[in-house]
Amino acid sequence: MAKKLDLFMNNNIIKIIEILEQDYQDSRCMLIYSTPLELLIAARLSAHCTDARVNIVTPVLFARYKNIDDFANSSQEELEEYIKSCGLYKTKANNIINMCKEIINNFDYKIPDNLEDLQKLSGIGRKTANLFLAEIHNIPGIVVDTHFARVTKRLGFHDSKNPVVIENIMKKIVPEEKSIQFGHCIISHGRKVCKARKPECSTCNLSKFCRYFIENQKCENKR
Ligand code: SF4
Repeated sequence: MAKKLDLFMNNNIIKIIEILEQDYQDSRCMLIYSTPLELLIAARLSAHCTDARVNIVTPVLFARYKNIDDFANSSQEELEEYIKSCGLYKTKANNIINMCKEIINNFDYKIPDNLEDLQKLSGIGRKTANLFLAEIHNIPGIVVDTHFARVTKRLGFHDSKNPVVIENIMKKIVPEEKSIQFGHCIISHGRKVCKARKPECSTCNLSKFCRYFIENQKCENKR
């Protein structure tokens, strides 16, 4: 039965994408940036923090730190003051300074344009690297954040908590040319409708394709 249901979900991916693209036409990366370096730093700050909070912090931060040398030469204490409200600020400040030094020394001032090298930078994991490649280089990829993991699990595409496993499963299901926008739409859906604490299934246009909804309806009907 579970296998049958999985097949049902996978067959419906095109319809799910169509509905999401219709419902979230303006969906995009919510971090505000004007250069690739600013995106990398904003993305690092967004870990365990909201994009809205990061967007409050970065205008002041980027006014003080205008280029990669400014960040690389900063004292940790000064940078911490600017990013304190983003949480985990000591680690983030340390990562940002080291990351900028690494880009200067190991990559001759050029931010890497591939997953492998990006992940060599301090504080840059797979999620941020995929986001950067999609935003800056339009390279297809699946960005697995908490919203993406939760919504795709409820829909029935996987049962994993491991971001790499989820990324690999979804890569096989989502057409490559749709993967960037699909990620933005799923994240928007997670923020607005399929919320962590209580999904608003009664208003969700994906309900007839959703494992969580279908299984919960069956439970309701048995009562
Ligand atoms: S039906 Fe409910 S659980 Fe399924 S995607 Fe929609 S809001 Fe989320």
